[in-house]
Amino acid sequence: MSFKDLGLSAKLLRAVSEQGYSQPTPIQIKAIPAVIKGLDILAAAQTGTGKTAGFALPMLQLLNVKKTEKGFRPVRALILTPTRELAAQVHESFMTYGQHLDLRSTVVFGGVNINPQIKILRKGVDILVATPGRLLDHVGQKTLDLSNVEILVLDEADRMLDMGFIRDIRKIMALLPADRQNLLFSATFSREIKQLADELLNSPVLIEVARRNTAAEGIAQVIHHVDKKRKRELLSFLIGSRNWKQVLVFTRTKSGANRLAQQLEKDGINAAAIHGNKSQGARTRALDNFKQGVVRVLVATDIASRGLDIDQLPHVVNFELPHVPEDYVHRIGRTGRAGNEGEAVSLVCVDEHKLLRDIEHLIKRKVSEVVIKGYEPDPSIAPEAIENGRQKFKGKRSKSGQNRNSGMGMTLPRFETGKKRNRKFKNK
Ligand code: AMP
Repeated sequence: MSFKDLGLSAKLLRAVSEQGYSQPTPIQIKAIPAVIKGLDILAAAQTGTGKTAGFALPMLQLLNVKKTEKGFRPVRALILTPTRELAAQVHESFMTYGQHLDLRSTVVFGGVNINPQIKILRKGVDILVATPGRLLDHVGQKTLDLSNVEILVLDEADRMLDMGFIRDIRKIMALLPADRQNLLFSATFSREIKQLADELLNSPVLIEVARRNTAAEGIAQVIHHVDKKRKRELLSFLIGSRNWKQVLVFTRTKSGANRLAQQLEKDGINAAAIHGNKSQGARTRALDNFKQGVVRVLVATDIASRGLDIDQLPHVVNFELPHVPEDYVHRIGRTGRAGNEGEAVSLVCVDEHKLLRDIEHLIKRKVSEVVIKGYEPDPSIAPEAIENGRQKFKGKRSKSGQNRNSGMGMTLPRFETGKKRNRKFKNK
């Protein structure tokens, strides 16, 4: 199967081959023809599967074919993403794949001055990538008209719900024309996602691609047991002794990310932290420096890392295991992307054994354990914090919804077309 077989135009094929893509990924094989046909899509796919090109390429094709008007260009395609970083990356993908077409795309997100965004919107764009909050700011300021949107994409819909964007999403949906194409991408399928899909989608094509990271092809996973207080030391040792050049490290908290980045700097390792408390400028700078190799270690929290697209990221380190097992899968999905080899290392202390068991249960395999000489855990340290950890774990799960777990079963919702469909949003 080639990109040509999927019905893409010559200009898009040229952009694809300039990216060095020789074959479409499984999600692209399924999504591209369906989107070109104008169908709604419900796709179980996460970052790393090639999903962005899976929707961007056919959307560009549709928008280009139907382009008739001269003069002012109303927004005809709207892509909503949970994070600023993902918005910027999706926009970049549209620019890259659409470089030989005469279509305009822009991105709006919060944390930066709204005025330059207003200026660009005033000139008219065909494609708008946005985070929900800033999009509504523009609507409120009447600097944006959404009444010509033909295609709506919700990217990483599960994360948008986790981040509390559901009300914003509903408000935005109410501003769009009823007659439009809808594409929903989500890594997990909670009850809330199924409900949203039910409201949003019209006889959707269901697309499910193998979760490469449950099978973990291309990703070597390893655990180093180590005492909590020696984790930083071990991390510096691994980076130095193995000469890792580009490492993404996950911590559970923002303060933990800051602290670790500072400590690594003291060890002579260039590091930066990326999390929600950092200004947009600082986040973009850190990511750029990391991509260019100026910053060797990027320390991130789960939400900040979501959707980060860094080509061929060779090493991911779980400095602390996540409380939600699915986040482990998301984290290690940052490495070994699109067929490249990658390594995911987890530093596990005695308090985290329960979290580790939950992760292994979820990915249905035991992760191999390697002891690093000189860093063996002290057997006299009792797992006293386990109870604590468990309590915190429970609290977190109930807060973010018990659905997180159910998602990994990847049972797609069954749709009763028409009958159960709530047309509330379409009639507005
Ligand atoms: P995504 O899942 O959209 O975040 O894409 C993951 C990565 O795969 C990105 O770096 C893309 O540039 C890359 N990619 C997308 N499609 C292909 C393809 N057909 N062949 C090789 N790499 C691809």
